[in-house]
Amino acid sequence: MTGADAATLLAELRARYADGRITHVERLPPRDGEPVAWPEWVPVELRGALAAHGVDAPWRHQAQAAVRAVEGGHVVVATGTASGKSLAYLLPTLSRLLTDPRATALYLSPTKALAGDQLRAIGALGLPAVRAACYDGDTPREEREWIRAHGRLVLTNPDMLHYGILPSHRRWRGFLRNLRFVIVDECHAYRGVFGSHVANLLRRLRRLAPDPVFLLASATSGDPAASASRLTGLDVTAVTDDASPRGAVTFALWEPPLLDPPTPPPAPKRGPLSRPESARGTLPQEEWPSRDPSWDGGPEHGSPLGAEAAPVRRSALAETGDLLADAVSRGVRTLAFVRSRRAAEVLAGAARRELDEAVPGLGRRVAAYRGGYLPEERRKLERALHDGDLLGLATTSALELGVDLSGLDAVVLCGYPGRLASLWQQAGRAGRAGREALCVLVARDDPLDTYLVHHPEALFGSPVEATVLDPANPHVLAPQLAAAAAESALTPADLELFGEGATAAVESLVGDGLLRRRPAGWFWTGRERPEVDLRGTGGAPVAVVESASGRLLGTVDRSSAHFHVHPGAAVYLHGGESYVVETLDLDDEVALVRPESPDWFTQARDTTALSVVSVRAYRDAGPVGLFLGEVDVTNQVVSYQRRRVGSGEMLGTFPLELPERQLRTVAVWCTVAPQALADAGVDPADVPGALHAAEHAAIGLLPLVATCDRWDIGGLSTAVHADTGAPTVFVYDGHPGGAGFAERAYHAAVEWLSATRDAIDGCGCEAGCPSCVQSPKCGNGNHPLAKPQAVDSLDVVLAALAAAPEPAG
Ligand SMILES: [Zn+2]
Ligand SMILES: [Zn+2]
Repeated sequence: MTGADAATLLAELRARYADGRITHVERLPPRDGEPVAWPEWVPVELRGALAAHGVDAPWRHQAQAAVRAVEGGHVVVATGTASGKSLAYLLPTLSRLLTDPRATALYLSPTKALAGDQLRAIGALGLPAVRAACYDGDTPREEREWIRAHGRLVLTNPDMLHYGILPSHRRWRGFLRNLRFVIVDECHAYRGVFGSHVANLLRRLRRLAPDPVFLLASATSGDPAASASRLTGLDVTAVTDDASPRGAVTFALWEPPLLDPPTPPPAPKRGPLSRPESARGTLPQEEWPSRDPSWDGGPEHGSPLGAEAAPVRRSALAETGDLLADAVSRGVRTLAFVRSRRAAEVLAGAARRELDEAVPGLGRRVAAYRGGYLPEERRKLERALHDGDLLGLATTSALELGVDLSGLDAVVLCGYPGRLASLWQQAGRAGRAGREALCVLVARDDPLDTYLVHHPEALFGSPVEATVLDPANPHVLAPQLAAAAAESALTPADLELFGEGATAAVESLVGDGLLRRRPAGWFWTGRERPEVDLRGTGGAPVAVVESASGRLLGTVDRSSAHFHVHPGAAVYLHGGESYVVETLDLDDEVALVRPESPDWFTQARDTTALSVVSVRAYRDAGPVGLFLGEVDVTNQVVSYQRRRVGSGEMLGTFPLELPERQLRTVAVWCTVAPQALADAGVDPADVPGALHAAEHAAIGLLPLVATCDRWDIGGLSTAVHADTGAPTVFVYDGHPGGAGFAERAYHAAVEWLSATRDAIDGCGCEAGCPSCVQSPKCGNGNHPLAKPQAVDSLDVVLAALAAAPEPAG
């Protein structure tokens, strides 16, 4: 069957949906590749091997990066998906290994699977002298010894470098002494706490290997050189001009329409614990960070806490279902990406029903595809799609890595996948030689999505999203220095290598008796190796167990357990079954649940207190102050509410007895003089709602400038804060010691807050909705919120920042 092409489909969609839901169309024209000659140092043997695989010449950006590395410069290649970044780092590495029989190289990837793929690709070149091997948790013991003694290109991951290679560096002495290149693939994955650990891990490696050249590969991002320099602690230059060819893609940005104005939301019923109205104006409003985006949402939406009110917009999932059915009915091979496994099933089901109604039997040609399928199931689906038996597939991002599905006519993204790298990876599935491909991004009910569909330049212009990490976080630095000392005594020169904060961290380790100073340096005193939480999981997750059967149903991140699995919580697990929590045992890390399908969902309520510990930097902008510093946050989940599924009607509030939790972290905060707000027409009674609304949207928009998830971030807003004496909005990292997000927010404040303002202002809703100022994780039940006043307040802030001189440095 030869389907309509994507361009025809788009023309039809534009004709049919002329109600403004297509907010923008961008055609990315086809681009011819720009091949250049091989650098003269590439050995004939390697040229031949590459030519046998169809690579007759490098693209310009590949050669540029390779030459730079051969000249001894550290370099990061930050170009698009499928632009051949691996050749850029393999060219200098393999050339060196082929011409210098002693040289070795290390390849790091965030996952074992990716290292395996690379090994297969390198092996296929047939260069026995390279002696490439994967060294990871799966490597058999007998092979490990051979690799340590003879391996020349060792492919591994940060975990193995930390647990396996650096601690036994004496057995790797020959390899490390001759280490010429370190390849850090997919380096944008090293962000937040994990990225901060990897940065220190690389410094530990640099201590034990004399001056290897670092070659990094990154997805396109804002300022890749700065991120790569921070990650490695070295001066890294970036190569960003993509000279690889690509097919034409037309990108449509899509905003689901507002629904007819609903009946006014029911007045909240006064539960036993609801706050007296009179206190509302001064109590701080807060959001506690919780890191569990994988948690399947409530009955309607993808948000972890379910819908808090009647929907205002048609859901992105419903729109995506229509688009998938539209495409399939025209024979356009289409992949639709959703966030959760459950949503993939729901989407495929909806499209099937719609198609069967139009043409009985057509629904068969749509399927769901998600992680968790067996390899043979996957292969079968891939084949069916390739052969055209299947025309539509609803999938989670399980497809992002490692599965061979490309050459489709269209891709529909149900919601912004959170990062530009993921967006381009998913969009990159569309495109066949000589045919126009179509990609549609359907905005979800979320301020970032709303902003993006109205500001295409943020997607198609130069990116502002930066990969963020903070190697100086004391909670990262101290255990890393302890690990380094356990590997080999720390010297004063090492402290310089670890940078800012290292001296203080070593002193505190000495104070705790963990390090001992001797003439040769600082020694680790313990018997066991120091504990390092490399991936920043914050301890063991909480198990969710069915009480009657003892069956393990899933796990919840420890940091979000109080919110999601408190006693009485209704939870929805992958697959769609629902349960109610009977008990939460924090000592044993287990939540016992029973199956139940209530017609209500639950929302935890919490209280947060925040105090300023120190100020690291600030900008004095007249009536507005912008600060970066350390804060202590104390949070307690105190109650939960039951709300009716669908309407969001409040059915009651129930007290909880959960312990307080403490967090010392880094925050960015903004103060505004009350008079400036009054002058801008914000009534004092509306100030709490204005700040609260601005805080929610600001948290939602932070991923635009920093590679974080909304769930990594917490916030608090108040009409007067004891430490600032003014109306204040705080936004803080949800990780002990900070992860770099608040710091990036401080430095990119104008871009960040302008986007926040525009997202709120651009939303067509009346009084605030999840697309602008409501938050799925508000501990205050999204109350109070004052949408227009939030825009006015942000205007005051932005005007003051624009008028104030840039701070020095
Ligand atoms: Zn709205
Ligand atoms: Zn809130």
